[in-house]
Amino acid sequence: MTPSVNVVAIDGPAGAGKSTIARELAQVLKLPYLDTGAMYRGITCAVLRKGVDPSDDGAVAQLAVSTVLDISDDALLVDGIDATLDIRGEAVTRAVSSVAANSEVRRDLRERQRKWVSERGGGVVEGRDIATVVFPDARLKVFLTASPLVRAQRRVAQIGGDVEQIARDIAERDHKDSTRSDSPLRESENSILVDTSNRSIDDVVHQIVGVFHG
Ligand code: C5P
Repeated sequence: MTPSVNVVAIDGPAGAGKSTIARELAQVLKLPYLDTGAMYRGITCAVLRKGVDPSDDGAVAQLAVSTVLDISDDALLVDGIDATLDIRGEAVTRAVSSVAANSEVRRDLRERQRKWVSERGGGVVEGRDIATVVFPDARLKVFLTASPLVRAQRRVAQIGGDVEQIARDIAERDHKDSTRSDSPLRESENSILVDTSNRSIDDVVHQIVGVFHG
């Protein structure tokens, strides 16, 4: 059995509902849950703590491979220091797409993600390149999306702020994530596309569980 057999890959742009749905799905399917975005955010947090320029590819790559990430369902430690709140802050959110465009960072995190899943025998894994690159042979691939307005409104409900400004920030991050040369955000050929705009979490989870078992 390859390690990816019991993987559910959840990809999609910012604010599509990936984390909420992936967590819920993991509980229902009794699989461990991995938020790969938190890993890219964790490396970005290390970069900012050390005062490294996020666009300095060499320095970022060197720091990334030596950064220890301890991931649990509700917390992230970066080199032993709690970064659970910092990784959701504005500074990390602004810099993360530059760090995530770094091929060495991606290579390193990809290996850690595969190891994490292989040690646990499967998982619900969310990110941007899970179905296309990290686990191309995942048992189920889901691409979640939602309208730009709904995505911005969800972010405002979580972190506050102005809807128009947040919509612009999200559009900029999505643009960077989908136009980078290494592992850009895109739908995988054999994924199911789910628009979460006007649907409840339970409804979407129910649909995905049905496909998983079907
Ligand atoms: O999912 P989240 O919004 O926390 O992801 C933060 C950033 O991490 C994304 O905007 C993207 O730049 C990067 N990311 C990635 N590949 C993944 C997961 C996240 O490039 N698999």
